[in-house]
Amino acid sequence: TKGAAMVTAVACRVQAQRKQIDEVLALFQLTRQQLVDVQGKMRAELEYGLKRKTHALATVKMLPTYVYGMPDGTEKGKYLALDLGGTNFRVLLVKIRSGRRSVRMYNKIFAIPLEIMQGTGEELFDHIVQCIADFLDYMGLKGAQLPLGFTFSFPCRQANIDKGTLIEWTKGFKATDCEGEDVVDMLREAIKRRNEFDLDIVAVVNDTVGTMMTCAYEDPNCEIGLIAGTGSNMCYMEEMRNIELVEGNEGKMCINTEWGGFGDNGCIDDIRTQYDMEVDEGSLNPGKQRYEKMTSGMYLGEIVRQILIDLTKQGLLFRGRISERLRTRGIFETKFLSQIESDRLALLQVRRILQQLGLDSTCEDSIVVKEVCGAVSRRAAQLCGAGLAAIVEKRRQDQRLEHLKITVGVDGTLYKLHPHFSLVLQETVKELAPQCDVMFLLSEDGSGKGAALITAVAKRLQQPRRE
Ligand code: BGC
Ligand code: MG
Repeated sequence: TKGAAMVTAVACRVQAQRKQIDEVLALFQLTRQQLVDVQGKMRAELEYGLKRKTHALATVKMLPTYVYGMPDGTEKGKYLALDLGGTNFRVLLVKIRSGRRSVRMYNKIFAIPLEIMQGTGEELFDHIVQCIADFLDYMGLKGAQLPLGFTFSFPCRQANIDKGTLIEWTKGFKATDCEGEDVVDMLREAIKRRNEFDLDIVAVVNDTVGTMMTCAYEDPNCEIGLIAGTGSNMCYMEEMRNIELVEGNEGKMCINTEWGGFGDNGCIDDIRTQYDMEVDEGSLNPGKQRYEKMTSGMYLGEIVRQILIDLTKQGLLFRGRISERLRTRGIFETKFLSQIESDRLALLQVRRILQQLGLDSTCEDSIVVKEVCGAVSRRAAQLCGAGLAAIVEKRRQDQRLEHLKITVGVDGTLYKLHPHFSLVLQETVKELAPQCDVMFLLSEDGSGKGAALITAVAKRLQQPRRE
């Protein structure tokens, strides 16, 4: 009959649409073999970065940090710390008490307006110094000459613990006249320009390094630092004899891998999708940080948005209408992805979140949006896990161990807020590096505390030379 034919036609259309959606989602489902490949390629890039001959061309930069020593519990004193490059810019006062391994912190969050992030370097550093001045005022510390540790979460070439030349901006920063300059010098000059106080800038540190140090303060087995937040990066303790760029063969030094640049030579293009390309092209640094753009909070929401736009164009979502909101960059922050994917959330609530974002959705739409978010964040966690598996296996083999027990200090909004990211990451590492027993330790405020600890260790190591 006619009615039955119509029902069948509708059912067919629904089925066909479902197939189209599944095809898009399938692009994000990596096989075990693909993950093993990623692990192998990451391993190769780590080695290139360490070798003198290939270092300059390596996409994973493997930057020596001049951090050799871990805290030993004798550190003490009051330190200032700056944390620039994560979700918030903060100024901190950190008090370390020796013996008890306890740290007290006071901090203030300051906004960095977009026009300053993307203005001139001088404006950026003047703003930073203005924030320090406000903080000192607020803490009643004006005039105090405290040692300062600067957590600067961008790739820097270091020749010493208190020198760091910015190689290139990543994430949302683009201030002019900074690339190729020493960020410690820029900070010192801005302090001089203000001519109000003096600070002893002792160390410049990557956030991964601060995170590792903070966790190592509690667990001496912690020799890896991981950030899965706005950006993505990892550092680890490497044998000096493997670091061809630095003289000496004894002991270990922390290497900031800058693995976000993995894939910039096209080596993982086989798993990048058209959506990844679109996100890359619309970013501040096209062609750069390809792995970071598949694994970190600043970009996951953008990948989701590109997929939703495409599904809408195909008439599979939002009644085929692309709203102005959907065209707006950056609407899906990590916080929203995390909410949408929360298992405790009923679909009605997912719809409400989409509504808040200005996306008018049906119940079916909200199911699809949730699936898209899930596929994108799962792939991110798996890719990040494959990278981590590469490093723990390298450490195990370098030490000729049957089994390696190692702790990873972790920080970052994606790791902390997302309901599934950390679990998928951990499962992937277990699967790809079965001979390693990897513990994950959440760092509490790694960037701030770590900068202070590194400053304290640097001060301690400086002492004998000065006397
Ligand atoms: C930066 C790294 C940083 C990471 C996490 C990346 O964009 O290049 O230096 O550690 O973000 O903040
Ligand atoms: Mg941070």
